[in-house]
Amino acid sequence: MNGYGLIPDEVRDEVLKRNDIVDIVGQYVHLSKNGKYLKGLCPFHSEKTPSFTVTPEKQIFHCYGCGKSGTAIQFVMGLEGYSYPEAITHLAELAGIPIIWGSGDSYAERNPRNEAKDRLIEAHELTAKMYHYILMNTTEGQEALRYLRERGINDKLIEQFQIGYAPPNWDMIVKFLTKRQFDLALVEKGGIVSARTNGEGYVDRFRNRVMFPIWDRRGRIVGFAGRVLDGSQPKYLNSPETMLFNKSKLLYNVHQARPHIKRSGEIVLFEGFADVIQAWEAQVMNGVATMGTALTSEHVQLLKQLGDSVTLCYDGDDAGQAAAMKSIDLLEGSGLHVAVAMLPDRMDPDEFIKAHGAERFRHAIIASAVTPTKFKLISLRRNHILLEDDGKRRFKDAALRVVAQVESPVEREMHLKELASLLELSGDSAIASLKQECANIRQKLQKNNQNGDNQDNWWNNVRNDKQVITPPVLRPAYVYAERSLLALMFQDIEVSNYVERNLGEQFNVDDHAALAAYLYAYYAQGKEPDFSCYLATLQDDRLEKTAASISMAEVPLRNDTALLDDYIGQILKVPRHREIERKKEEMVQAERSGDILRAAQIAQDIIALEQQLKR
Ligand SMILES: [Zn+2]
Repeated sequence: MNGYGLIPDEVRDEVLKRNDIVDIVGQYVHLSKNGKYLKGLCPFHSEKTPSFTVTPEKQIFHCYGCGKSGTAIQFVMGLEGYSYPEAITHLAELAGIPIIWGSGDSYAERNPRNEAKDRLIEAHELTAKMYHYILMNTTEGQEALRYLRERGINDKLIEQFQIGYAPPNWDMIVKFLTKRQFDLALVEKGGIVSARTNGEGYVDRFRNRVMFPIWDRRGRIVGFAGRVLDGSQPKYLNSPETMLFNKSKLLYNVHQARPHIKRSGEIVLFEGFADVIQAWEAQVMNGVATMGTALTSEHVQLLKQLGDSVTLCYDGDDAGQAAAMKSIDLLEGSGLHVAVAMLPDRMDPDEFIKAHGAERFRHAIIASAVTPTKFKLISLRRNHILLEDDGKRRFKDAALRVVAQVESPVEREMHLKELASLLELSGDSAIASLKQECANIRQKLQKNNQNGDNQDNWWNNVRNDKQVITPPVLRPAYVYAERSLLALMFQDIEVSNYVERNLGEQFNVDDHAALAAYLYAYYAQGKEPDFSCYLATLQDDRLEKTAASISMAEVPLRNDTALLDDYIGQILKVPRHREIERKKEEMVQAERSGDILRAAQIAQDIIALEQQLKR
């Protein structure tokens, strides 16, 4: 429960009274007047003719296409992924109504602690603005600015992530906040300044560092990470744990990633906030990161509220891979779908993007993330030398233990075949004996589960309760394909005609489908390719933005039919992947209800579908 009952009706009514739903919806949907109501393209489902309506008189929205309806509260809940209290808070803030509840989701009377919190957030916001100003507009900030630019952090990113610079002074922020009547004892509790060791007065906590603000999930600045410019230590200095900043609960960039996550349900989880920033520039905008701590169950809860699928993108070194292994168990244990992005040569995401570029990062790393089982097998393979029989045997035993834990028989079979080829086993009898060994281990595991002494694989108990479905691996790849196609279509009528014939409006991303529909209509009027003229026909802020970003960022180098077919193929595969996912779920249901015959039939279907996809 989200604590619906804990927020008094008067508060809810006040929030609704002080926000006009037309304004709220208007921030996301282009509305045009139509008699007593306004209409526009529904933001909750894909459509080309508007069936989404807003009735000002009743202050409600309703979609005749997908049936979604409600007040401004349900609208922001649906679109921003807010919980009920979060939606109320958001709307209260928009209307300038004082926020009168605390940090949790429960309603609380205004109390001194909340006032202190609000004041401390204000201090953080002002301090962040100051640091940012110094970086961008003063000679003191020049070296830091050069440092950032040299590391591929351009001004757009600096703006987006409100990066700043704390000069070497001992008391710049102390003076700045004192002048604004902040209680420095409180500010010290928030970790912006430190008390002098002799107990007299305060000094700035962060000096001569590049400053990265850290936001809470609602987009309020609650802490900082400061990085040195030279070799001095510590390299990163974070805010201490405070009433605002709790490392084990906070994920970096949730407030900016949320709308991107909402579109696909998919989250990319990084180890560090610097990776999130670089990935953002590489058009991976659904990235969040832990702040210098291992993933906790609180993080996992937050991730579950955001999406249903997590792609781990940890450093490629041993420490990163070991951390990924732990995170997999925690994430899968909570029922999230997990995939693992594999970085080559022990690189971290930042290094990979710099070395190989954004496009390869999206394609070869994020979109090619593997299942956890495959990840475990690859890691095992790395740690064993297969030249000798002894190494082979140990690798085989360890690998079989991993495969035996896979629930789906189809998947198990697939991994066993891979394993056989790694071990250079051929012939049906060799594979059959692998299968038998695997089945024996599986049986043993299940017995242990029943006996409750399965300490090593505690998570496996959970997994038996809730089947974890392998995520389709190519979600971001099709997004890339759709954007690339559109970019080409913007420039070329022939391409647009070709795509119209072969793909039509079957884009998987709603906005892309709408952009294509508008483009077909535009060319159908006999107009020439002219991006700004086309843009003017959209009359929708969000579509305009999407179109502009596509036309600016993605210009495929080649332009031939084979490339177009390749993109179209990738896009058309997506519904089939979803079909496979659905079938896998069905199969598990059948297995569970003991209908082995039906499960086997579905397995056949899945294999057929997968083969179709490979063609
Ligand atoms: Zn709808």
